Amino acid sequence: MDFFQQPRLMISVEKKGKGMLIKQTFPRRPYRYSEIRTPGFEFCFNLNGEIISIRGLTPDWPHPAEHFKRTVGNDWVYYTVGDKSGSDGVVSWMGEYYLPCLPYVSNPVWDVKCFSNPHVMMALAEWSQLYANLYMADSKGLYPRAKDLIKRILANDDQTLHERSQRLNDIIGGRISVLPPDTRHVNYDIIPVTIADGCLYHCKFCCVKSDQKFRKRSKESVLDQITALKDHFGADRTNYHALFLGNHDALAAGDDLICFAAQQAYKEFGFKQRLKQDPFLYLFGSVGSFLGAGETLFEKLNELPFDTYINIGFESIDANTLVGIGKPVTVEQVKEAFSKMMEINAGYNRIEVTGNFIMGANLPSDHYLSLAELLKNADVKNKSKGTIYLSPLKDSPNKRELLPQFYQLKEESRLPVFVYLIQRL
Ligand code: SF4
Repeated sequence: MDFFQQPRLMISVEKKGKGMLIKQTFPRRPYRYSEIRTPGFEFCFNLNGEIISIRGLTPDWPHPAEHFKRTVGNDWVYYTVGDKSGSDGVVSWMGEYYLPCLPYVSNPVWDVKCFSNPHVMMALAEWSQLYANLYMADSKGLYPRAKDLIKRILANDDQTLHERSQRLNDIIGGRISVLPPDTRHVNYDIIPVTIADGCLYHCKFCCVKSDQKFRKRSKESVLDQITALKDHFGADRTNYHALFLGNHDALAAGDDLICFAAQQAYKEFGFKQRLKQDPFLYLFGSVGSFLGAGETLFEKLNELPFDTYINIGFESIDANTLVGIGKPVTVEQVKEAFSKMMEINAGYNRIEVTGNFIMGANLPSDHYLSLAELLKNADVKNKSKGTIYLSPLKDSPNKRELLPQFYQLKEESRLPVFVYLIQRL
């Protein structure tokens, strides 16, 4: 007797999302993907057959636009629209229509209890059920037109997905503990290549630093990574439109290695313009490496076939705060780097330098006063560039109470201001 009852599945072997990256209230889709719908859920898969998102379709689901996304690091991140969906909602402080609820300890401004909602958690159980149903469907030869897709999905069970994320870390030499805030523009979907390990400072407050001293990678290491990543991302490479050159201070690696890595990655990963949108290049820089970078570096970056974002960790322009958080730079250096950010943003059409400052309940009031002054009086030549990200300190209590302070700084600032949450790859 056959007890197997195949539920109704609607299978779309190939679907197309928007080619252009635009901010939208509905979940972003990859350029090309596959979709399976059950009566209660929508599951999306990348071109390798790896599951990438789940969304509930019934009235029990918190909001039609909320969804789970699985990262290449194999984290299931829940994207919530928050409690307000208008212009004063999540988008007003994140710059995006979603707030990522991370399944690991981070620095949230707002602790949404996404993972305690049984309907939300049901989505992950439904993924296991779908996998089992596809297994049965495959053994019975059902859905012949989707045979190849089903085989690809079955080849990527949970254990395989976990192993693939470990393999990615092995290729680049360790997990990326934090992505630049600007990667929000591509929904954090980047291909990483490590060009330098460690960083110039080992700031006391930092929760993402590695113990390593700063060290550039060799060109051979960069080429080895690119070859292995090309194979690792496989067919799904075409869905990527962004490169992250890691790690915490890739800018300190210098123009030769940065441009070499960017050009090789561009060629090998098959990056190209999509609907007139160039691919994106992201990297971190420190106050020291940014101040030390000469015109040649920016001229060369501006010539690359990427739109480049460099994110600098300023943290504060208050001397006591800098000492308190153990950041070994002076107020003068931060001011100088801040002015340089304005100059670079005004002088190079394909480069945007952005900056991070900290927020926290127990910081000296001078931190906020000096920051407000800096942002209010910034000599802005291009108002759409030079985004300032405010990052809550991880151990700061009552983080949501930081939002009014954030709004005040944002309102007075001549530069765009958003909140920065620590997100790993
Ligand atoms: S804040 Fe930046 S420079 Fe300081 S330790 Fe962390 S990663 Fe390194």
